Amino acid sequence: MNGEDAAAWIRRAAELVAADAERLTRLDAAIGDGDHGLNLDRGFTAAVAALPEGAVPGKVLIAAGRAIVSKTGGASGPLYGTALRRAGKALGDAEDVDAAALGAALRAALEGVQELGQAVEGDKTMVDALVPAVAAYEAACEGALPGGDLAACARAAVEAAGKGAEATVPMQARKGRASYLGARSVDHLDPGAASTVLILRALADVVEG
Ligand code: ADP
Ligand code: MG
Ligand code: MG
Repeated sequence: MNGEDAAAWIRRAAELVAADAERLTRLDAAIGDGDHGLNLDRGFTAAVAALPEGAVPGKVLIAAGRAIVSKTGGASGPLYGTALRRAGKALGDAEDVDAAALGAALRAALEGVQELGQAVEGDKTMVDALVPAVAAYEAACEGALPGGDLAACARAAVEAAGKGAEATVPMQARKGRASYLGARSVDHLDPGAASTVLILRALADVVEG
């Protein structure tokens, strides 16, 4: 993955978020305040506008994360912005990122989300999609040669994220606005877990070429 691929990831994520913004907002209307699609659409639009020309992947992700933090309302803005900034920082100045380096960046993104939001698996948040996604990515890449199959690792991550998101349906929220609903948050898909699937799908789409 070079800098252009990283920029393509952000552009593809913006496309997928825009296409699903209404669904995300509907999910958030059920257990939150009905702005998740709108928040992310605004954030990723700003991220696309902030993409630097000819930069290394790490710098691309840091610029996107910064734009998302500054332009996205709600809990999800700082969380996704931090995720992208941490991922970018983990990639450093590398011109070309292999499967292992991207796995380390995804792990760093997850750590950033958990540090900031203090959510663990089972709290019914984006963490429930991200934790299995990072684990599946790492498992798929274990033993992969340097420059190994990035696309296969990313696809494994998306599949695990989708299952993790589905698993939030029966959960009772313990973090974020949905937690104010107590037992009434049960039987709904968490909007942040749903958007995490989209962002990882964008990565898989781009690295599959
Ligand atoms: P807000 O709830 O402030 O309106 P959004 O609607 O944009 O923000 O985002 C809501 C999503 O953010 C939730 O569905 C959940 O996945 C995620 N979220 C909320 N709080 C946390 C947290 N502390 N840690 C991780 N994710 C969280
Ligand atoms: Mg909301
Ligand atoms: Mg809100």
